[in-house]
Amino acid sequence: MDIRIEQECPQCGAQITLTESDRLLSCPYCGVKSFMQSAGAFRYVIPPSSRIDVSAPPLYAPYLRFKGNVFLVNEAGITYKVMDTTRQGYELTGLPPSLGVRPQAMHLKRLLPTTSGRYLRLTTKARVILEKAVRLLPRRETHTMREKVEPEKDMIYIGSRMETISNADRDHFLHRAFIGETVSFVYLPLELTDTDILDGVTGTRLLPLEKAAGVPLRGAPFNPRWQVGFMPTLCPRCGWSLDGEGDCLVMTCSNCDTAWALGQRDLKQIAWQMVAGDRGTALYLGFWKISAHIPALDIYSFADFIQRTNQPMVAKPQWHERVMSYWIPAFKLRPKIFLRTGRQTTLGQWRLKPEDGHVVPNLYPVTLPASEAKQSVKVILAASTASRKKIFPFLPEVRLQDVTATLVFLPFVDKGHDWYQPHTGTAMSKNVLRFGRSL
Ligand SMILES: [Zn+2]
Ligand SMILES: [Zn+2]
Repeated sequence: MDIRIEQECPQCGAQITLTESDRLLSCPYCGVKSFMQSAGAFRYVIPPSSRIDVSAPPLYAPYLRFKGNVFLVNEAGITYKVMDTTRQGYELTGLPPSLGVRPQAMHLKRLLPTTSGRYLRLTTKARVILEKAVRLLPRRETHTMREKVEPEKDMIYIGSRMETISNADRDHFLHRAFIGETVSFVYLPLELTDTDILDGVTGTRLLPLEKAAGVPLRGAPFNPRWQVGFMPTLCPRCGWSLDGEGDCLVMTCSNCDTAWALGQRDLKQIAWQMVAGDRGTALYLGFWKISAHIPALDIYSFADFIQRTNQPMVAKPQWHERVMSYWIPAFKLRPKIFLRTGRQTTLGQWRLKPEDGHVVPNLYPVTLPASEAKQSVKVILAASTASRKKIFPFLPEVRLQDVTATLVFLPFVDKGHDWYQPHTGTAMSKNVLRFGRSL
């Protein structure tokens, strides 16, 4: 479930409601569209109850919010889980370990320099909190092959940085990936009385003050690095107004047919193509075509891939010249559908003939960035193989080389309840696509 954030339009001051995945602010009152930029994860506060003593600015405790899919690959197969959790980031007994559904149930506010308050610093590293949250997810035990396989140093994506997962629990899987996650901070207001620490929203007593003896409870003021900036969404090349909806991560220019990824600081031009549709085309869905070499498996061409993964088909001679690409849905989907769609499109890639992209009105928003598509390659490779034994044990050694990413829009036709891709036979229920927008 998405959380709702109240946000003032930087242009006209109107109150707008955004979702946590929104990177664009599109004001229905003044019509101005702005792209929100930030050096790290977005930060939100749960507004304190009005009965709080306003003479003292409230103290805020940090919680880390993770939302996305976790994939685990082990000898037994691929397991996955949708993660949607908001975990305690400040070590203090009495604080709720998780905010449960509170962030969803309330309208949050963006943390601004003008928000009155002091902020406790994170005492636990983001990756440790994430590890803990993942450990709460069900997992299959594996026993075979453990001795033979050296588990990899897995990389995960937290906010803007890549970090290495700690050693704990490594031996339970051959590969693990976090895909499509939103990471943000949610601050819970606390009220300090002479005797107690209270929940600043409900007024519930969390712990007697004497039990917090020795715990620093001063907090720090707003850090200027947390400031979110607003940037106009004009085409950096021709100055035309770019197209895109609230949660999109790529905007397109219908004047000069360019595509722009929303970076942390600015808009970055990206390579894009499309496979031509026809009159039956109802919409175009974007895929990240990630071309890469995998020396550990000796997969360079599409023919290599067909052979190494034991596909029940014979490689055509020209497939030896075709660099292997992994086709990753560029929009959020539930894990099972994500795997199936990525697998079908990857296997059917030889039927696709992408050409230069031309902006058309029915391009579906891109909501999964190229960085996360690259992190999905091993998972899609695992999902695409017809022989686990030939691929899974080698996953820890798999490193991608000569990686390029191109956004390719594929035409889909309307088949009643489904969207259907005629070249690859990929189909997905319309409900699934609607669901993915709020994932
Ligand atoms: Zn406005
Ligand atoms: Zn342009």
